[in-house]
Amino acid sequence: MGKKYLIIGAGFSGTVLANQLAQHSACSIDIWDERDHIAGNCHTQRDEQTGIMVHQYGPHIFNTDRKEIWDFVNSLVEFRPYVHRVKAMSNGKVYSLPVNLHTINQLFGRSFTPGEAKAFLETLADSSITDPQNFEEQALRFIGKELYYAFFYGYTKKQWGCEPTELPASILKRIPVRFNYDDNYHNNLFTGIPVDGYTAVMEKLVDHPAIHVSLNKRFDPSMDTSGYDHVFYTGPIDAWFDHKYGRLGYRTVTFETHYADGDFQGTTQMNFCDEDVPYTRITEHKHFTNWEQHDKTIYFKEFSKETEPADIPYYPKRLEQDKKLLLQYRHDAESLEKVSFLGRLATYRYMDMHHVIGEALDFAKSWLEAAKNGQKPPVFPNVEA
Ligand SMILES: Cc1cc2nc3c(=O)[nH]c(=O)nc-3n(C[C@H](O)[C@H](O)[C@H](O)COP(=O)(O)OP(=O)(O)OC[C@H]3O[C@@H](n4cnc5c(N)ncnc54)[C@H](O)[C@@H]3O)c2cc1C
Repeated sequence: MGKKYLIIGAGFSGTVLANQLAQHSACSIDIWDERDHIAGNCHTQRDEQTGIMVHQYGPHIFNTDRKEIWDFVNSLVEFRPYVHRVKAMSNGKVYSLPVNLHTINQLFGRSFTPGEAKAFLETLADSSITDPQNFEEQALRFIGKELYYAFFYGYTKKQWGCEPTELPASILKRIPVRFNYDDNYHNNLFTGIPVDGYTAVMEKLVDHPAIHVSLNKRFDPSMDTSGYDHVFYTGPIDAWFDHKYGRLGYRTVTFETHYADGDFQGTTQMNFCDEDVPYTRITEHKHFTNWEQHDKTIYFKEFSKETEPADIPYYPKRLEQDKKLLLQYRHDAESLEKVSFLGRLATYRYMDMHHVIGEALDFAKSWLEAAKNGQKPPVFPNVEA
């Protein structure tokens, strides 16, 4: 008789894992998700008023350099090419992002060549900062105060809810400045949008007789799971342990929905860099699918805030105290029997979709191999330093 598995969470982590376990072993799989839909934070659905495919938890662009991941998702559904070009509103003017030659020339009213722009920026960089102690110093050291205050200061303050001087320099490992006119936000080999949205991708993944999905079903770790041979958990790791050491820090986002006729802002994403504009960005989802025609438009103002217990955790903060807590939780997780932790929430990392999918594919493989050889199967897909 086959094994019986329980997977908590029907996002990409849970559905890819279920798909692989079902395809490569004799088993039956229950997936539980507390939401009323599958697909986790990547859930998409058509807006009733406009017919536009809306990314319910914020805009998602599929991008990867790994051909095998691109082939995998394209074997499930049709993807169409999409180039993400982000604009930025700063001090009442619209610029091109990431900061590129056009942005620099616009901001300083110049017509620099790449070499001239590079030399000019070197004159602006604050060379007195040799050992940056925080985000602000890191930025000033590389790009100087003009670009920093125009594009980074206000946006970062709104996004993280604190002064950039309170953030570690490590958040800004490198400043995304390009000395050419390339304004493609993603520098990946493969970028696209699924024609019928991301939920359709995951419907395909769980379309297998061995997989049974239950929605509106919240898992509590105190529940009796002895009827299952193994539990795979993709929820928040601190919630598994009832937050006994404390809560891991996350930022979350809230959305304000608006409708208009025609085209509201002419692009998918406009960032608002000024501190006095309360939202961080506006996303207009009809621009994801330029092969569709819609008379009306729907757009979302996005506000960033600290995560309360009832909120959906979005961006892991991973400050020093969070990393310490994480190691404590991981240590306890290692001693559990028949439980594995997978995905962005259970490993407490920001992960793009291709990353999550790749890790679930690799994890399924190594987990099944270990189980077949009678070895202790892996608890986590990654090592935390
Ligand atoms: C605003 C935003 C924009 C993003 N944009 C992009 C992008 O453009 N490109 C990209 O590649 N990636 C993007 N991402 C990342 C992408 O959302 C993640 O890679 C992906 O959602 C991770 O999948 P997951 O399955 O690990 O987690 P999730 O999608 O969060 O799925 C976890 C699931 O577990 C369920 N769950 C949790 N606890 C329980 C419980 N106790 N009982 C039952 N169910 C439970 C949740 O309801 C959820 O459905 C973005 C993320 C955010 C926040």
